Amino acid sequence: MIPCECSMVESVGENVIALKEGDLVIPTYLGECGECENCRSGKTNLCLEHPLTLNGLMLDGTSRMSIRGQRLYHLFSCSTWAGYMVVNANYLVKIDSRIALSEASFLSCGFSTGYGAAWKEAKVEKGSSVAVLGLGAVGLGVCMVKEYDMYIEFKMLQT
Ligand SMILES: [Zn+2]
Repeated sequence: MIPCECSMVESVGENVIALKEGDLVIPTYLGECGECENCRSGKTNLCLEHPLTLNGLMLDGTSRMSIRGQRLYHLFSCSTWAGYMVVNANYLVKIDSRIALSEASFLSCGFSTGYGAAWKEAKVEKGSSVAVLGLGAVGLGVCMVKEYDMYIEFKMLQT
């Protein structure tokens, strides 16, 4: 996944009730309605109503960005590399406002990828041996899974 940054909500549309100006959010490529079969299953985060979009447009087929009258395309539902973005509220995760922006960005893509890979995909169990190559956001996410006791041995690998 391409990095998702932590962002602050500047304004909300008239139908948005779960977010307000000033909220800290993390944009995600995969939206969540909380009501469809997949969202309620607890087994997947592939929402049937708010999927990953690859056409550069919002779900209604429009783009909310342009430059000199020419349409610009959103990057994967949320355009996280833009200074400002318009995004469907279902593609945002509200986070605790006490978290510093610089630290909150760490929680977005990399950390959740490592955490989810170890917990949900690999289903690492207590007592398993896990090799974590690199302790960036993904590697630290793997180490935070609570379902197993983590013994970390640091070794320098030289090629
Ligand atoms: Zn859903």
